[in-house]
Amino acid sequence: MIRAMKLVIDTEKCEGHNRCYAIVPELIEVDDYGYASAAGDGTIPPELAEKAQLAVDNCPEYAITISDE
Ligand code: SF4
Repeated sequence: MIRAMKLVIDTEKCEGHNRCYAIVPELIEVDDYGYASAAGDGTIPPELAEKAQLAVDNCPEYAITISDE
């Protein structure tokens, strides 16, 4: 069985500088203060997997992870 990869954002760690949104807006929602959360249920379509990893690597707060649960 292929498990869905999901983008998970720890909103307590997020400092709201929007780098993730700039990289992969398809997977991120930001509130009025710039704080990020995963769009929808966070599922990462295969064509966005590379950009999702880039967002993980570029979050200065280490707030983003990719889960395969
Ligand atoms: S890059 Fe990290 S800290 Fe910045 S908005 Fe995105 S999740 Fe939050």
